[in-house]
Amino acid sequence: MSAFLSVRDLRKTYPVARGLFGRPEPLHAVAGISFDIPAGTTFGLVGESGSGKTTTAKMIMAAEDPTSGQIVVDGQDITTHKPTERFAFRRLLQPVLQDPYSALSPRMRIGRIIDEPLRIHRTHRDKASRESRVAELLDAVGLPRNAADRFPNEMSGGQRQRVAIARALSLEPRLMVLDEPVSALDVSIQAQILNLLRDLQDRLGLTYLLISHDLAVIGFMSTQIGVLYLGRFVEVGPKAALLTDARHPYSLALIAAATPHSRVPPVSGEIPSPLAPPPGCQFHTRCPLARDRCRSEPPSLRTIAPGHLVACHYAETTRRETEDA
Ligand code: SF4
Repeated sequence: MSAFLSVRDLRKTYPVARGLFGRPEPLHAVAGISFDIPAGTTFGLVGESGSGKTTTAKMIMAAEDPTSGQIVVDGQDITTHKPTERFAFRRLLQPVLQDPYSALSPRMRIGRIIDEPLRIHRTHRDKASRESRVAELLDAVGLPRNAADRFPNEMSGGQRQRVAIARALSLEPRLMVLDEPVSALDVSIQAQILNLLRDLQDRLGLTYLLISHDLAVIGFMSTQIGVLYLGRFVEVGPKAALLTDARHPYSLALIAAATPHSRVPPVSGEIPSPLAPPPGCQFHTRCPLARDRCRSEPPSLRTIAPGHLVACHYAETTRRETEDA
């Protein structure tokens, strides 16, 4: 299957001054990540806040320029696009964000909110054809057609997220960037929205980049999973490999945290500041299996099975050692 999105050695570094007169120092928010998303599949990016997930999403959505690296969408490197090309290309890539309320203008009726991208991109010549497209989109996301006359504050959180999805679908995108799409919703509503997203993917052949701190959400939706820590992948692989045969101690701790009655302790302590990342393996300050080598020698991301890559010196023994600990 050919990749619809291909990311190569993507980096984002911000200069950050320490103190009022301090010299700017580099903060490596994303420190060289590569992955492919075949058309019609979902790549799940999981990690704590500060791991680089949202910066990655912003670069893919062209809301931030990368410091270096390539983002190839449907065969075109979008990092080299001029602003006019970006505008046209933006139709193909649409975001669905965490908080639907802040993404929807409170003074606009739902019909107008969904219709807005059609007007901006001039895809429909007249009002009647836009109205019929809005009706089609409301059907697609399971909202009644009379929802077009309501305001966002007259709807529940789940209904508002359906409106945000309808708006994102209006321009017939091929890639949707789903940034924590259900984390602001009640657990009972989360499954409905995730099922809707999966159903839309099947019907429309959509490709998803899903970002979440919640491994249960990532596991339910994804074809491939990448675990980010301080801007780097510590483990990447097919969903089945990640969920049943994870090897990095950080992935094992995330899985344990999402598994009731797991014997593996959750990861302790805070993620270190990306301004002062630990030397050697950057996870060593929180790793229960760390030894001397880990404190000085950074592990490379190496293949341990087809498509399954792990950045740990001891990937062959981590599962057994974690379970025995
Ligand atoms: Fe832990 Fe060492 Fe593996 Fe890093 S390289 S994850 S510190 S065991």
